[in-house]
Amino acid sequence: MTLPLIKNFVNGEWIDSTSTTTGDVWNPATGEKIATVPYGNSEDVNKAVQAAKDAFWEWRATPPLTRARYLFRLKDAFEENFEEIARVLTTEQGKVIDEARGEVRRMIENIEHATGVTTMMTGYTLEDIAKDIDCYGHRQPLGVFAAIVPYNFPGMVAWWFLPYALVTGNTYIVKPSEQVPMTQTKIFEIVEEVGFPEGVVNMVHGSRDVVNGLLDHPDIKGISFVGSTPTAKYIYQRCGETGKRVQSLGGAKNVVTIMPDADIDQAMPSLITSFFGCAGQRCLSGSILAPVGSVIDEVREKFIAAAKAMKIGNGLDESVAMGPVGSAPHKEKILGYINKGIEEGAELLLDGRDCKVDEYPNGYFVGPTVFDKVKPEMSICSDEIFGPVVSMVNPQNLDEVVELVNSRNYANASCIYTQSGAVAREFKYKAHPSMIGVNIGIAAPMSFFPFGGYGNSFFGDIKGHGREVFQFFTDMKVVIERWF
Ligand code: NAD
Repeated sequence: MTLPLIKNFVNGEWIDSTSTTTGDVWNPATGEKIATVPYGNSEDVNKAVQAAKDAFWEWRATPPLTRARYLFRLKDAFEENFEEIARVLTTEQGKVIDEARGEVRRMIENIEHATGVTTMMTGYTLEDIAKDIDCYGHRQPLGVFAAIVPYNFPGMVAWWFLPYALVTGNTYIVKPSEQVPMTQTKIFEIVEEVGFPEGVVNMVHGSRDVVNGLLDHPDIKGISFVGSTPTAKYIYQRCGETGKRVQSLGGAKNVVTIMPDADIDQAMPSLITSFFGCAGQRCLSGSILAPVGSVIDEVREKFIAAAKAMKIGNGLDESVAMGPVGSAPHKEKILGYINKGIEEGAELLLDGRDCKVDEYPNGYFVGPTVFDKVKPEMSICSDEIFGPVVSMVNPQNLDEVVELVNSRNYANASCIYTQSGAVAREFKYKAHPSMIGVNIGIAAPMSFFPFGGYGNSFFGDIKGHGREVFQFFTDMKVVIERWF
């Protein structure tokens, strides 16, 4: 059987990459090849940038409300195709179908927020800044922007940026992860139906060569990147060298704290989804479980029981609680970390290494895995594993919690479960991560608040979505005016 060959979307048309290098796309639940993706090159990038550049001036001169109307139509079209997008997403990424639906919903919420452009893009003005002189600033789009995105959210992440770039009058290029190119392809079929002017929105598939082509191109004004910390640092440095705007979101190692006064039964469902949702492959996944003092005994017992009860399988099956991890190499990496945790002396309470799903013997399944007696200096407590592996530590008080959280290499998100407002306040005040949950396991800001971390989890200053992203995609032009 010939597998579908993924195409680029440039200047309103589906075209083949000029590269002959390709990769395979796999269904992680079945271990079957499902498509072939081109590993594009700088020629592909140049075509897309030229199309986006040619489209810019007319799109920029289109009234903001008219630009927003394209997004209203797109929202309706996404609603109509909601379930289909979610199913493609689960098929190539592995997450359970309900999570895929949640991802599509978050994608649409960014479109909804971006339609507020006529309020969000306005500038400000002051008369008489000196005798007979007035001053005003208005926000102008800059040209061609691009997004480079990761495999764990094949649909949503590009849409943390794209709607805002378009609605402010820029033109755009998306570079999906080569591991999961099919979801964005499905999404762009819908984009095509909505009928944006040619060249306004484009997609180029590939890996490093496409990324470098975007970074090197003088007509790209800015890059939004989401992925692992080493790549995020590379993107940030290269954008500095080539003078591009950049927002570069990296990896995570999130600590979830349970204070002794927390209601454990109430917390348990959100703890389980925090650690095992998306098979631990979220930048907001819990990775370190930190029950404080003697509450560890109750948390350990209930957490292990709930983890054991999870049904593992193909995410398209509605009864499944956790799907496979994203790829065969990634499964090996996770198993390597489990072995390392044992070597480092942590106690393996729940071992997911031999997880088998009878109907899918070739799927990349790793079962829920829980280590106890983990020390902060162990690699399983410092490195981003990005799988369903939990490192349990036992701080004795809030000071030790804050020390643990702030000494990790990353500072993306952190959560605390407590009934004390004073404890929660101290935690919010002192912990470094930028996204904080209080009695919430996955502190995922919605589209109208900024998404992004601190330290090695984020490089730049304006984060994903939220109000500030309208600034990332515009330049404030200040006019100082005097008339005689
Ligand atoms: P990744 O860094 O391997 O890849 C991300 C993108 O960069 C892909 O499009 C890929 O093609 C490209 N890329 C990879 N290596 C490159 C290189 N050497 N040079 C140029 N381009 C390169 O990340 P991933 O494995 O796809 O995604 C998982 C990572 O993303 C995890 O670390 C996770 O924490 C992070 N993530 C972070 C957030 C956040 O909001 N901070 C959200 C989602 C995922």
